Amino acid sequence: MIRVETVLDRLGEGLFDKVAGVGAHEVVVESPRHEETLAGLDDDGITRVLWALRERAQDLRRDVRFRQFVLFKNHGAAAGAALAHSHTQLLALPVVPREIQAEVDGARAHYLAKERCLFCDIIRQEEEDGRRVILRMPDMLALAPFASRSPFETWILPRRHAVRFEDASLEECRRLAQMLGDVLRRLDRALEQPPYSLVIHTAPVADDHDFYHWHVEILPRVTRTGSLEWATGFHMNPTRPEDAAHFLRQLTLG
Ligand SMILES: [Zn+2]
Ligand SMILES: [Zn+2]
Repeated sequence: MIRVETVLDRLGEGLFDKVAGVGAHEVVVESPRHEETLAGLDDDGITRVLWALRERAQDLRRDVRFRQFVLFKNHGAAAGAALAHSHTQLLALPVVPREIQAEVDGARAHYLAKERCLFCDIIRQEEEDGRRVILRMPDMLALAPFASRSPFETWILPRRHAVRFEDASLEECRRLAQMLGDVLRRLDRALEQPPYSLVIHTAPVADDHDFYHWHVEILPRVTRTGSLEWATGFHMNPTRPEDAAHFLRQLTLG
């Protein structure tokens, strides 16, 4: 439970650390229609959802206690959705969560070693290689990431280097909406409306993250995670990303 109206206390208890539940948790209702899904909205509808998230993050950013925004969506009960009505969520947190920090640290290490953005490098290499590309649009690229964690894991990256989603223009939100709608409809077709998790990865609020590049990650929930994942952080994925990308690429929607 987090709330905005709390003092940000950081306490030690012996060797343990505690931080007060300061934060914001907001829900964006995606459509007035109860049975609607994000994939079923038209480009304008998805743009409005993205723009609402962007506007809320812009507003909450003025609160200096917040260090990280987490913009995410659970679709389907198997992906953890507690509300049936289609919605997206925004968390503003006083800490950078470990999973996000790990990705940020990886991007920083790449930048320090090569003086290039890791994600710009991924875009260049995957475009040239082509085997894991799902969809190309002028401003966005959708791909199945190398060593995907689950069958049909999909990333969407803006081609232009940009650190934070919440600084995207209306035009960029529109382009993302086009890509996202197309990708979600392909996943719906390929996996028969799977439950999925979606997260928009954006840089921590602190200034020094120019090496980071915002992007969207979508994980269809078609495999169960068990003790091995818990014990090791390894994910068992029976579907090669090259096969998933090929399958999604050749689907015709209509
Ligand atoms: Zn970049
Ligand atoms: Zn990421």
